[in-house]
Amino acid sequence: MNLKYHKIPKEIHTEEELDELIAFNNEVREHNNNVRQYYAGIRRQLLELAKEAYGEKSNMYKYITKYRVHNYPTPTMVTTDDLQRRYKQTQDEKMKQERAIERAERHEEITKQAIEYCISHNLKWTPSTAYDAANNHYLDTEIASREGKEVYLKHACDCGKWIAGERRCSCGNRRIYWNTSMDYDFRGKGYLYPTPD
Ligand SMILES: [Zn+2]
Repeated sequence: MNLKYHKIPKEIHTEEELDELIAFNNEVREHNNNVRQYYAGIRRQLLELAKEAYGEKSNMYKYITKYRVHNYPTPTMVTTDDLQRRYKQTQDEKMKQERAIERAERHEEITKQAIEYCISHNLKWTPSTAYDAANNHYLDTEIASREGKEVYLKHACDCGKWIAGERRCSCGNRRIYWNTSMDYDFRGKGYLYPTPD
């Protein structure tokens, strides 16, 4: 067991691993402390002997006081907190990777649906353009299907009325057009709403 250089492993995957490392780290710390105390004791004894034999003002005593023990073991630099942090980092990293995989899978699934949409509507597509092509077509179709219908304007204008497809609201004060919510897409997500210019 290398007690002098006890390092944190890069990844700590399981709680068992974490517990083992914490226990090992505590063991190392305790051992190193014992060794330090042992050397400190020897040094103290030497000083006492020198004091007794030669006196506190003697060169011998002064000589020994100048010396430190060189081979003290380094106390472990790792704390339980460090180990727990590293464990959490490993978990976070794992979760990040899982989420990235899920995102990629979701993206793949949506692209697949978009391609199916493009094929069934006779649209031009490539794997990278299918999503936009499907969305544009879906939006155009929805807008066209609403043309000529009366739309209630909640905030856009006091007159409160717009005939979809016309440039202005019924009183003529505001130009109105369709806008889409952020999540709007070809799968029927999101919604259209009238917005003033
Ligand atoms: Zn109006």
